Amino acid sequence: MSEHATETRGFQAEVSRLMRLMIHSMYSHREIFLRELISNASDACDRRRFAALADPSLAGGGEAYGIRVDFDSKARTLTVSDSGIGMTRDEAGEHLGTIAKSGTAEFFARLTGDEQKDSQLIGQFGVGFYSVFIVAERVEVRSRRAGIESAVAVCWSSSGEGEYTLETITRDEIGTAVTLHLKEDAAEFADPFRLRALIRRYSDHIAFPVLLRPDGGKGEYDRVNQAQALWTRPRQELSDDDYREFYRHVAHDAAEPLAWSHNQVEGRREYTTLLYIPAAAPFDLYNRESPRGLRLYVRRVFILDDAEQFLPLFLRFIKGVVDSADLPLNVSRELLQQDAEVLAIKGAITRRVLEMLARLANDEPEKYRTFWKEFGGVLKEGVIEDPGNRERILPLLRFASTVGDGELHSLADYVARMPEGQKQVYYLLADSATAARQSPQLEGLRARGVEVLLLSDRIDPWLATHLDEVDGRVIKDVASGELELAGLPPLTAAVAPVDTMPALYARIAARLAERVAGVRVSTRLAESAACLVRDSADPGPQLRRLLEAAGQKLPESRSWLELNPAHPLVVRLHLLPDGAAFDSLAALLADQAQIAEGGVPPDPAGFVRRLNDWLLGKY
Ligand code: ADP
Repeated sequence: MSEHATETRGFQAEVSRLMRLMIHSMYSHREIFLRELISNASDACDRRRFAALADPSLAGGGEAYGIRVDFDSKARTLTVSDSGIGMTRDEAGEHLGTIAKSGTAEFFARLTGDEQKDSQLIGQFGVGFYSVFIVAERVEVRSRRAGIESAVAVCWSSSGEGEYTLETITRDEIGTAVTLHLKEDAAEFADPFRLRALIRRYSDHIAFPVLLRPDGGKGEYDRVNQAQALWTRPRQELSDDDYREFYRHVAHDAAEPLAWSHNQVEGRREYTTLLYIPAAAPFDLYNRESPRGLRLYVRRVFILDDAEQFLPLFLRFIKGVVDSADLPLNVSRELLQQDAEVLAIKGAITRRVLEMLARLANDEPEKYRTFWKEFGGVLKEGVIEDPGNRERILPLLRFASTVGDGELHSLADYVARMPEGQKQVYYLLADSATAARQSPQLEGLRARGVEVLLLSDRIDPWLATHLDEVDGRVIKDVASGELELAGLPPLTAAVAPVDTMPALYARIAARLAERVAGVRVSTRLAESAACLVRDSADPGPQLRRLLEAAGQKLPESRSWLELNPAHPLVVRLHLLPDGAAFDSLAALLADQAQIAEGGVPPDPAGFVRRLNDWLLGKY
């Protein structure tokens, strides 16, 4: 096919699906299409200015970077043009025919088909260029890439219904013009008053001038926005709305951010940061390959998207801008990696974000809860990754515990509630908070009125290995090693275990020698008959499973079987003579202890047989 031929192509299947969903769900605030167009135009200007750093011929002859909005009320058309980097024919086909956004697969996997639910998802996904089809019945994009001849510019056009056309055209100006043929009910977007108000709202933070002709006709263009990069303006001049609007632009997120922090640092090092905490996690938060990081500017010139060198991995959810006065304009990703200046800024940004979180936790607990739900698991990585900031991160952690009905608590809450005499902070690892709450291992502490933190996040087994001590208090896994009870309130007499059966423990130990390290009386149990307790050096079942899934071979380790001598089954066992019934019940106690902590007995079929024997009254 000749390059000049008109070619019709189908949209990637996801694009069509996205457009249908968008037209349905965004209808009530369909004016957002204009924000997307201006945002893209501004990015394109940024990119051209950046490209011109390396190749000044791309800058064009004195032509200022900017964005023009033209309209024709009679013809019901609206055109947004920019003098940005432009697109080649191939680029137009690729960028305006597919979705390259990170998290796309995750996004589509989450769609339910329920319009209500899916429309909330789309807000999180960000709508982008395709939102033009909410208001337009036909769209043409004419574009010429900087550095490409005028005779091989491109016209992309589509009515948004499954197909688009690419045609090679001649275009004098470098940059892109997007023309919308508005739907009949969208005529308001070709009205000068409506347009001016919208552009004001959506473009004041844009660093390039946005121009509009008051009458749409031939007169002079007016500049509608301030055309000054938002982060360079003094804080007191900016409203919350200004910050929110800029967030949408920089984060490509339609939702409002939870909090932000804007700082202009002067002195030996000169830089500005504007950092945002989003309200919802992106779909690919746990995909370590996905793009993340801040948008990097050097003296207001855009340099890089997703400059991950300015954020530690455990703050990868932060969005925003860093503008340095000291880095060279030709800085590359590779250079950033080793730069001492960058490391220093990263350290300062890390502290800034942790301060912002501490403030949020303190002043706006409701918002902090949202933050924790979305990003708490990632923040926990910081305790492991960044020992230098441990003391700043620990107070930000939240845990479920045996106190309250599912509320989350800080370590300080826990310590404040500790009864007099309690020296250690207790926690229990389990697969879920519900499983943890039911665990036999914490019965004894619960009966004594001692609070236990319940850790059930994927990352918690690792986190626990890094907690060891908080505020001078030992953090203790209740399912491991000896449980130090000195100083704790005594148990009420009825449930206090009396260790009167040492002979029984030796008999059981002899029979279960293959399975357990030993048998002893429990200080942990109050209601259940038995539980397993691992040696303090053992990583525990949760961490063991994770490490083994990752291909690590761990040495076998046997747990102690702890028994509750007050439990009728243990008393029964005590009274049984040596023989089949004794062996069966002893094994059954070990089986149930393992099941209670979310494990599987070593011989599941044997367990079922033993259980059935007892259920059917064989003994
Ligand atoms: P996003 O802006 O989030 O990447 P969009 O759907 O808005 O998603 O745009 C897709 C891509 O199309 C952009 O990343 C960019 O490469 C290209 N594009 C859109 N508008 C323009 C424009 N005005 N100039 C140059 N490229 C553009």
